[in-house]
Amino acid sequence: MAANYDVIVIGEGVAGLTAAGELAVAGLKVATIEAQLFGGLVININELEPRPTGSDMAGGAEFASSLVEAAANVGVTSINEPVNSIDAAGDIKKVITDGGTYAARAIVVASGAHLKRLGVPGEMDYEGKGVSQCADCDGPMYQNETAVVVGGGDSALQEALVLAQYCKDVRLVHRAGAFTGTAHLQERVNAQEKIIKTFNAEVTAVKGGQMVEGVSLKHADGRSEDVACAGLFAYVGLEPNAGYLPEVIQRDAYGFVVTNAKLETAARGVWAAGVVRSGCGGLLDDAIADGKTAAAEVRARLG
Ligand SMILES: Cc1cc2nc3c(=O)[nH]c(=O)nc-3n(C[C@H](O)[C@H](O)[C@H](O)COP(=O)(O)OP(=O)(O)OC[C@H]3O[C@@H](n4cnc5c(N)ncnc54)[C@H](O)[C@@H]3O)c2cc1C
Repeated sequence: MAANYDVIVIGEGVAGLTAAGELAVAGLKVATIEAQLFGGLVININELEPRPTGSDMAGGAEFASSLVEAAANVGVTSINEPVNSIDAAGDIKKVITDGGTYAARAIVVASGAHLKRLGVPGEMDYEGKGVSQCADCDGPMYQNETAVVVGGGDSALQEALVLAQYCKDVRLVHRAGAFTGTAHLQERVNAQEKIIKTFNAEVTAVKGGQMVEGVSLKHADGRSEDVACAGLFAYVGLEPNAGYLPEVIQRDAYGFVVTNAKLETAARGVWAAGVVRSGCGGLLDDAIADGKTAAAEVRARLG
């Protein structure tokens, strides 16, 4: 099969769009393949904290749109189909989607990650009925209600602050004794009177009738507590979108793609960039840096 493209980038998140734009500027024929809407994890974040270095754009959708536009302007082809598998053997790589098979001389895997679930009883039953992972999208539905947010990192703190704009109060539940989010976000959370912090506790069940009516907590000291609430938002880490990749592409213990320092995977000619990669930092700046590094390395190989 002849190559349709020099490079196929899987995923139109920030890492993939950055890599694709840089590769096309260098004169290569590039396609991005995206399963959903462009933008990935930040598409629904209305107030980026922190913003990407050098950008004055507040919103994730606005920032991702600027990357999509830049990529289109330099000739990147955008294909809207989910990638089901890739064939990484040989000099010409194949990317298999619902729509067909595309061939390229190189692949950049930038398929990112998704937010983990708590995995507790009731969570999936109440998906869309009070269980959500998008505070910016669903926050307005919780006017004058109580929402429970789970987690202690940047995402949990950021989203608790969003919900506090709408809710009567927000119960922020973290299983450890201190948050891990940045000092600035912790200061903002501490200053927000509507956010009630609960450390050393875990949500063990989601309960309700037609809609969520409460969650059960288990405290580290053994106490149980029922919290009445209308919404549950969990931000307890990410799982990689890497299930479609062949075994030859090595993963770490959590399923993230392992690369060398040049971001090339165990399959020659297949690079990985962004949060799908083991060791990528958690911020947009890290995803952008990965996209640029992968693009430079692919360019160096393809000439
Ligand atoms: C709630 C939340 C808030 C955040 N806020 C900030 C912030 O304010 N500032 C900041 O710096 N960072 C923030 N981050 C971190 C930031 O979102 C990530 O570091 C960055 O977006 C990762 O980009 P990515 O391109 O690596 O992956 P992703 O954003 O996950 O993009 C991957 C893309 O690949 C697509 N894809 C997946 N599988 C397939 C497939 N099989 N076929 C085709 N396409 C596929 C996905 O649909 C997605 O569009 C936040 C993260 C979260 C979870």
